[in-house]
Amino acid sequence: MVNLLQFDRGALAEWCEQQGEQAFRATQLFRWIHQRGERDFAAMSNLAKSFRDKLVASAEVVDLAVASEQVAEDGTIKWLFDVGAGDAVETVFIPETGRGTLCISSQAGCAVNCRFCATGHQGFSRNLTTAEIVAQLWHAEFELRRRLGLREGERAITNVVMMGMGEPLQNYSQLVPALRTMLDDHGYGLSRRRVTVSTSGVVPMMDRLRDDCPVALAVSLHAPDDALRDELVPLNRKYPIAELLASARRYLERAPRDFITIEYCMLDGVNDSPAQAEALLALLHGDGTAAAPGLACKVNLIPFNPFAASGLKRSPAARVAAFAAVLQEGGIVTTIRKTRGDDIAAACGQLAGEVQDRTRVVERRARAAPVRVALPASRRSAGEAVAPGRRS
Ligand code: SAH
Ligand code: SF4
Repeated sequence: MVNLLQFDRGALAEWCEQQGEQAFRATQLFRWIHQRGERDFAAMSNLAKSFRDKLVASAEVVDLAVASEQVAEDGTIKWLFDVGAGDAVETVFIPETGRGTLCISSQAGCAVNCRFCATGHQGFSRNLTTAEIVAQLWHAEFELRRRLGLREGERAITNVVMMGMGEPLQNYSQLVPALRTMLDDHGYGLSRRRVTVSTSGVVPMMDRLRDDCPVALAVSLHAPDDALRDELVPLNRKYPIAELLASARRYLERAPRDFITIEYCMLDGVNDSPAQAEALLALLHGDGTAAAPGLACKVNLIPFNPFAASGLKRSPAARVAAFAAVLQEGGIVTTIRKTRGDDIAAACGQLAGEVQDRTRVVERRARAAPVRVALPASRRSAGEAVAPGRRS
C-alpha cells in the first residue's frame, strides 16, 4: 500500500500515470485529500469507479496515531503523535486573533544538540518522512475544522512554522515535497510568506532551499560571536557565523520577504548582556562595507523556556527589554516572543516527545565532564536566581 501523503502533486501525477490514469486525475485526488480531508476513496465522487477501485486496492491516506492531546489555558493545543518504534513527535497549534499557526516537527529528536533545547537533549532517532510531516498538518487542519465547525473553504491553519522537534534542513529531501504540498493551490494554498523554515544554520541546505522552494526563513543565531555560538549551537563549528550570514544574504535574493528572521534565545547570564546586544547590533547592522555587510533582518528574542536538566535560566524580563532596546535604537526591528502553551510544555524548545536516541549522544554526554558555558565574570558572582516566569 502506498501512502498518498508522501507525494506532492507532481509526484502524485507520476504515480497516477503509472496506474494508467491521466495526470489531471491527480489534481482531483490531491484536492480531495488536502482540501477536503477525505481519506475514503469510495467517497471521492468525481473520480471514475475504476480509479476508485484501484485506489482502494493499492493506496491509503495514513493519519498519525494520537498518543495524547493537551490543551493549554491560552488555547494552545499540543498533540503527541506516535510514529512507531518507541518514537513520538509533537505538533503545536497556536491560535491568535485572525490567524492560526501550526508548529510542525521534522525529525524524531535532533542531532544538532543545542545546549538550551529539550529536543536536542534527547538525541536523535530518525528523520520523519514527507508523509509524516504533511500528516501533522492534515490531522490538525481537518480535526480543527470539525471542532470549530468551519464551513468549506474556511481554514483553521493560516501559518506553518517548521519549529517543532528537529532540524528541518537536516531532513531536506523529505521536507521539500512537504513544503510544496503546503504551498500548492490545490493543497493547503499557504503563501510562501506564511510558511517558515527555522534552521540552526545548515548553510549548504539554506542555499538549496533558496533555489528549490524559497519560503520565509528564520535563522537561530543565539550568540553574537563564534566562541559562544560554538558552545550553544555545536553546528557553528562547521558553519560559523560569517558563512551563515553570507548564506542568509544569498537567501534574501529569492526570499518571499525582504528580511530574514533572527531567533535569539535569551539565557540568563550567558548571551543577554548589554555588550552582547551591542555586538549583535554591529554584526547584523554592519556598516555597509564588505568587512561588515550586515543582514536585512528582524530579531525575535525568545525568553528561554526551561526544562529539567538544562542547567540554564531564563533572562529576567528587564534584561530582555534592555537587550531589545539596544537593537531597536540601532535600527533593527526587534520583537520579544510571547510564550504560549508553557503550562503543557508546548513552548519553544520544550518539545520533547519520545525519542529512542540512536546516536548515543545522551549516553556520551553523561560520560563526559559537564560542558559549561563560560559566564562573564561580572555575572558569575551575582548569582541572580530568578524563577522563570509562567508567561512573558
Ligand atoms: N531546529 C530548528 C527549528 C526548531 S527549534 C532551529 O533550531 O531553528 C525552534 C526555535 O526554538 C529555535 O529558534 C530554537 O533555537 C528555539 N529554542 C530551542 N530551545 C528553546 C528553549 N528551551 N527556549 C526557547 N527557545 C528555544
Ligand atoms: Fe535541534 Fe533546533 Fe533544538 Fe538545536 S534548537 S537541538 S537545531 S531542534
